[in-house]
Amino acid sequence: MIATGIGYDVHRLVMDRPLVLGGVTIEHPLGLEGHSDADALCHAIADALLGAAGEPDIGHMFPNTDPAIRGICSLEILRRVRDRLAGLGVTLHNVDATLIAEEPRISPHLAAMKENIGGALGLPAARVGIKATTNESLGFLGRGEGIAALATACVDR
Ligand code: MG
Repeated sequence: MIATGIGYDVHRLVMDRPLVLGGVTIEHPLGLEGHSDADALCHAIADALLGAAGEPDIGHMFPNTDPAIRGICSLEILRRVRDRLAGLGVTLHNVDATLIAEEPRISPHLAAMKENIGGALGLPAARVGIKATTNESLGFLGRGEGIAALATACVDR
């Protein structure tokens, strides 16, 4: 059957961390805090895929207490999710995501993000949707305290 999943993630922006989104390291004074590279976009997509497959969320598969995955590249998380779903006989149709970031501008990096995520998932970039928006200066996202991502995924299972 066709199944869809939804994912959401947010990470705090802090000093002395690289800003990695969709596997792209973006020049910015602040980066995202987390146990992995804190790539909120990849994490939201991973959760959408796991949800579509009927699997537990990313925190079950990649606990943030596991020293073996400290600093892991989140494209590797997506590759492992892809392998897990393949093992279950789940095939991927597409993923679609929205990044919510007041800063920096995301649009110059969208093509590279789609290539990275498509490469990790074994999907052509045309099946990887990524949009970006600001939060119109509202709330913690609008104050630039963090970056969030929403994602959906469609699979056959
Ligand atoms: Mg996360």
